[in-house]
Amino acid sequence: MASRKTGSDFCSLLNSKYSQLTGIVATDKVISCTYIISARYRDPTLQGELPFVTSIADSREDSIKEAESASEEVQVFTDGSALNGKVGAAAILTREGKPPRALHLALGPESEHTVHEAELVGILLGMHLISTERRGNATFALGVDNQAATSAFHSALRNPGHHLAREILQVANRTQKRRRKGRYKLTIRWTAGHEGIKGNEDADREAKRAAEGLTPDKWALPPYLRKPLLINPAAAKRDHHEGLKKIWKKEWTATARGQKAARIDGTTPSKKFLKSVSQTELSRIDASRIAQLRLGHAPVNKYLKRMGRVDSARCPACGDDEETPEHFLIHCPSYAHERWALAQQAIKLRKALTMETLLGEPEMARTLAKYIRATNRFRQPGSSDQT
Ligand SMILES: [Zn+2]
Repeated sequence: MASRKTGSDFCSLLNSKYSQLTGIVATDKVISCTYIISARYRDPTLQGELPFVTSIADSREDSIKEAESASEEVQVFTDGSALNGKVGAAAILTREGKPPRALHLALGPESEHTVHEAELVGILLGMHLISTERRGNATFALGVDNQAATSAFHSALRNPGHHLAREILQVANRTQKRRRKGRYKLTIRWTAGHEGIKGNEDADREAKRAAEGLTPDKWALPPYLRKPLLINPAAAKRDHHEGLKKIWKKEWTATARGQKAARIDGTTPSKKFLKSVSQTELSRIDASRIAQLRLGHAPVNKYLKRMGRVDSARCPACGDDEETPEHFLIHCPSYAHERWALAQQAIKLRKALTMETLLGEPEMARTLAKYIRATNRFRQPGSSDQT
């Protein structure tokens, strides 16, 4: 292992855990790592290493023209697709005078795999068709309707799913080496989707069949795809996040605070609320005051009395019996002067000056923050700003 530079961090971590557990000092033989990830930044295009030409037209129109005038003898189209929560990939190879060859792979549920990953699987299937094609000393084109997949090879190949791009490069390299003496040439070409390019549409149709579960006998697949694919971290994360959001939403709407906020804005919890308090003009303190007012736990006296922090719920400014958020924001006569700007902003938004307008309108947030600051109501004694 000492002689291997790549992947050594992972191995040395394993080895150090092993020595902690056993007291044995790690040697090369303790754990042998077969999963090697290059830690070095690589840009194959800069090194002139790519075993194919990539062609990404400047526009969709140019891409269609390029696809129509393609002169390669063998045309391969690949695609990845999601259907009913499941992901599939396919590749079709056509050559004049021969029946087309196709490969499919059902990747699995969207909770474990992404369409981007499927696009790369499609290219790998296409590469396999190319490398197993008889009379391989020919010119090949591989059409992909996805620019991100096409340009993945120009990146550092370190994103989740890029293990597939690395495998594609390896198969392409081996194929090129085997056919070096012939006139073998491969072009990977972006062919804009949904533009009526026939190969694209065929590949799309086949990828959807794959998503529905069509997969051949595993021996027909490239060796890399004979084992189940690693779960894609991006898909797993997204799935986990969706699950969390659902739980949170359910719990949130069941709480008293959630119900209070729902009265102001029926879409809560929502991006609208987050947007209204995450404007760059608002300080963290402004945002938290507005959130407190929305949720009904701003430190006004009615709330503080309930918490046992003050003796009376009375408004300290005008002496009214109860200082509620609504009293503070809308009714307290002591803040009539400060409230003028709020009324003006409400008129501008063509809204009545209500709690819903004040706390539910993102375009109200800045004026509201100014009002809260101007009243000095929440300024703590001895502090330079509201806390
Ligand atoms: Zn008052």
